[in-house]
Amino acid sequence: MAKGLTATIKTAFTDPEPFDDDDLLEFDKNHIWHPYTSMTAPLMTYPVDSARGVHIRLTDGRKLVDGMASWWAAIHGYNHPVLNQAIRAQVDNMSHIMFGGLTHAPAVGLARRLISLTPPALDQIFFCDSGSVAVEVAIKMAFQYWQAKGFEDKQKLLTVRSGYHGDTFAAMSVCDPVTGMHSLFKGVLPVQYFAEAPRCRFDETWNETYITDFRNLLETHHKSIAAVILEPVVQGAGGMRFYSPHYLKRVRELTDHFNVLLIFDEIATGFGRTGTLFALEHAEVTPDILCVGKALTGGCMSLAASLTTKRVAEGICAKGGVFMHGPTFMANPLACAVAIASIDLLLSTPWQDKIQKIESQLKSELFQCAELSPVEDVRVLGAIGVVELKRPVNMKKIQKRFVEKGVWIRPFGKLIYVMPSYIIAPDQITKLTRAIQDVIVEDNF
Ligand SMILES: *Cc1c(COP(=O)(O)O)cnc(C)c1O
Repeated sequence: MAKGLTATIKTAFTDPEPFDDDDLLEFDKNHIWHPYTSMTAPLMTYPVDSARGVHIRLTDGRKLVDGMASWWAAIHGYNHPVLNQAIRAQVDNMSHIMFGGLTHAPAVGLARRLISLTPPALDQIFFCDSGSVAVEVAIKMAFQYWQAKGFEDKQKLLTVRSGYHGDTFAAMSVCDPVTGMHSLFKGVLPVQYFAEAPRCRFDETWNETYITDFRNLLETHHKSIAAVILEPVVQGAGGMRFYSPHYLKRVRELTDHFNVLLIFDEIATGFGRTGTLFALEHAEVTPDILCVGKALTGGCMSLAASLTTKRVAEGICAKGGVFMHGPTFMANPLACAVAIASIDLLLSTPWQDKIQKIESQLKSELFQCAELSPVEDVRVLGAIGVVELKRPVNMKKIQKRFVEKGVWIRPFGKLIYVMPSYIIAPDQITKLTRAIQDVIVEDNF
């Protein structure tokens, strides 16, 4: 056994580098896990050479127009000189330093910006390393708050169906019970309360019956509910659904009335994606805890944050209490420095105008798909365009077709969607929307 292990290590270390493409793909296929995939029946993966602006360059020389912004994150496109410079400057000073007992200008600079850009009451900030952890932190804050207040029974969460909040256990427990694969983790996942997904479309006139299910659950179970967690306005990876900001107004009123905290997960919607800097601005609602991530660093590094109010922070810390979380790479200076650069870059551009233009173009081009027979629904909000089909796509087939058409679009389930970087040009948007339309017309997915 020991001998075999040594031999393996030797082989790995003495293998010649660099690999050619085939070697690289072969090694990848045999040893490296990709998101939500099988190791024994892996999907096709494409080797990337580099990425610049809105283009992803594959090692075979093909250039793809990127419709995904690396999962909502790369809002300024790839390889942006301003972001690169921020990283370079910080790396020469200090890549990382522990946050226990120490602080630094990048963390403070970023905290100042986040606090000034979000609702005034949210002025206590916790930095962490990924969106899922920001959600865990938010949930822990809510539990610790009620525990410190003597409400020991408040240990459950209430959310809506079709949500997505991350892949760690507490975050997973509030993902959509079907697409979040709760059955797979039955018995280990905490069981939470789920109201029906908001039915009112973004622009729809409000009708009080839209909140009935949510209201009933809250009314019945509020004594055991610590917090409500929602993605405001746009439900992302759980279904790409948009709903009325009025829903959030009512949720805020109800959570206040029933003494329950409200967590907004803006990890996908933050930093302009829906047309406002944060989606909560559509509703003019302040949550008790706000999670941001993804586009926070312009897609360069992993960083997230949970912001909360003095009321929650003081509740947790009353009678000598401390908040029990502290990641090794908390407030990583390199990530904070590039986040500062990304935010300043965004705010120095006419981002609202750009997103408005992307929205108009996505509407005029994607709505043409609405009449096609495989299509169930088309919806556009801000820099997000979604074509929902009547049946799930064949990932193997459709991914290959998109790459052949020179675009990077990665559907899931019945959903073909784009959320490009904000620097995308009109002809590049057309390339994305035409590829989507062509693939659907071919009906070859
Ligand atoms: C992506 C996402 C998360 C999880 O973030 P990770 O960085 O992948 O852990 C949580 N909530 C929402 C709304 C997301 O879109």
